[in-house]
Formats: sequence, C-alpha cells, structure tokens
Amino acid sequence: MGDFTIKIDMDKCTGCGECYENCAFDVYDEPEDGKANIVDEDA
Ligand code: SF4
Repeated sequence: MGDFTIKIDMDKCTGCGECYENCAFDVYDEPEDGKANIVDEDA
C-alpha cells in the first residue's frame, strides 16, 4: 500500500486484540502477555 510504518505506545496498549482482528496487512499475531504482538511492522 505504501510507505507506512506502525508505531504503538505499548504503555497504552490494553491487549484488546482489535488490531489483530482488523488489520488488513497481517502486521499482528494474537496478543501475548496482554499486549499487541507485532510480527511484521513493515507488512
Ligand atoms: S491490542 Fe492493538 S488495538 Fe488493542 S490497545 Fe493494543 S494496539 Fe490497540
């Protein structure tokens, strides 16, 4: 899609999983340890 890179403030992340469930680019795997789990931030 272009030159975007995600940036998450992990202090504010609640591990809700919305990013994992909705990301169209498979950036995330299921949240681990109550935090977002980024597997490919350049996807
Ligand atoms: S799990 Fe994802 S959507 Fe939920 S608070 Fe963390 S970064 Fe945001």
